[in-house]
Amino acid sequence: MDVPHELGAVYAVATFFVSKALLAEYGLSASQVLPGGPEGLADILLDETSAHGEGRFSTLGDYTLSAVEEEWCGKDFCCLPNQLSALPLLKAVKRYSELHRQILGRYAGLMPPRPTAASWERMSMSFSEFLATNGLETLTPQLDLLVTANGYGYLDDVPAFYGLLVATPELLSASIASQQDPQGAEPLFAMLLGGFDALWARMVEQAGLDVRTGHAVTRIERSEDGVTCSGTRADGSTFNLEGSHVYLACPFATIAPSLADLSPEEAAIFQKLKPSVLATTLFEMDPSPAYQNRIAWWPDRIRPLEPGERPKGQPSVLYAHRWNAKAVYWPQDDLGPPAGGNRFLDPGTERVATSDAAKRGEKQLRVGYQLAERGASQDDAALRAQLKAELVEQLAGQGIGGVQVLKQEAWDYSYRFSQKDLEAGLPWDILTMQGARRTFYLGASASFETLNDVTNYNLTLERHFFPDRDGTPLRHRGKSLCSLVCGYSDAGDV
Ligand SMILES: Cc1cc2nc3c(=O)[nH]c(=O)nc-3n(C[C@H](O)[C@H](O)[C@H](O)COP(=O)(O)OP(=O)(O)OC[C@H]3O[C@@H](n4cnc5c(N)ncnc54)[C@H](O)[C@@H]3O)c2cc1C
Repeated sequence: MDVPHELGAVYAVATFFVSKALLAEYGLSASQVLPGGPEGLADILLDETSAHGEGRFSTLGDYTLSAVEEEWCGKDFCCLPNQLSALPLLKAVKRYSELHRQILGRYAGLMPPRPTAASWERMSMSFSEFLATNGLETLTPQLDLLVTANGYGYLDDVPAFYGLLVATPELLSASIASQQDPQGAEPLFAMLLGGFDALWARMVEQAGLDVRTGHAVTRIERSEDGVTCSGTRADGSTFNLEGSHVYLACPFATIAPSLADLSPEEAAIFQKLKPSVLATTLFEMDPSPAYQNRIAWWPDRIRPLEPGERPKGQPSVLYAHRWNAKAVYWPQDDLGPPAGGNRFLDPGTERVATSDAAKRGEKQLRVGYQLAERGASQDDAALRAQLKAELVEQLAGQGIGGVQVLKQEAWDYSYRFSQKDLEAGLPWDILTMQGARRTFYLGASASFETLNDVTNYNLTLERHFFPDRDGTPLRHRGKSLCSLVCGYSDAGDV
């Protein structure tokens, strides 16, 4: 039997307020589960570096606090009681949150208002420079996880603005809360029974939506009277659809060649959005006593240390691998797929052929995570080959035997603007283009690469442009879209 394996989006973060509200609205609130079960331990492995010796932790909390001890006591840090180490960490979160609000203001969930020149002055640097400038290095371990390990760029490379966008004060507070009270607090990362697809499937069913998959759009013509989309279906036949508007809900760079009348304004913005590549690779390996938990993570592989210590320019560094059985089949005694299907996975998840030894549980199936820097492309065959070769080499370096790569996906991921283009205001220019040329610009290219950001952006546009449809009160009427998206807060602050 081939086994289904998730190689894409699986986690809901504690602050996914919009996604979680949607789960509640569609009766799926109870579908959140903890990856790896209530214990959910991880193998967090430190390399020998100039900052510290080799080390191992099994919870994010312990690892985070060790980094505080390291800052206080240097490379040969001793183990201070956790209560003591927690104090500077809490102080740093408080200071960070104050700075965040001073620089970006208070805003609801999505994107801050267009920053002022004075705010840009405080953010015109990389995120790691921002942390160092403000004496917030203590937060680096958490931000390695929340920003870089999630694929949004290396801290010493990503503009401070994006770091602040991801790491909101609410997210840092949720991270601390989940470390202090792992059983009671909202989990920092949750998985969903049936995957995110359970939510999309429920929406389609309840609203009776006409969704057609397997249609490749190759041409979009927009005129004063309407829009025509044409292309090819999966069976090779052609289609031609007419409508009043078009919603571009895919990477803008890939759809741009299909826009018959691409405007200079659109072209200028689309070409400046550049992705990184996030690669997920499913492989088998012999069980190893060193890797017994749901995920193995090497923070030093992505952490800015001394100049040159992070393997910059080596795009394919393997920084984590997830043991699928432990992450998703943990209720099973033998960690085997439950009879009658696995309710933890989206039923549409692709099935992958595995060895008989893996089916018998004698080999582990894991998903490796690798990140290439901004400007890379998923279509770069040489990069894909390098990703695969280096994954195998790095696993061998970890003393792991019996490695067999089953499937690799490389994804253009986290389209971002450069510091200069951010300061020129391009993300806010996309907002002002909404609805013009009979076009709405949606998805991660317009907002940010999480399901929460994407759904949040879509809902906000829907409420602005179609406020009557679901009976939503017209409380936004009279506000421009920019002020609505950037400044609206349920608490009434702008
Ligand atoms: C490996 C991986 C792990 C991730 N993990 C998480 C996670 O745990 N949690 C989380 O919140 N987010 C996660 N994400 C991010 C999340 O999946 C994306 O942010 C989100 O799916 C983006 O939504 P979107 O609608 O912009 O684009 P997509 O989901 O990429 O959808 C765009 C669709 O458009 C289609 N398309 C493109 N061009 C055309 C064309 N010409 N004609 C027809 N169709 C076209 C594509 O085939 C695709 O189906 C992950 C992403 C990846 C790659």
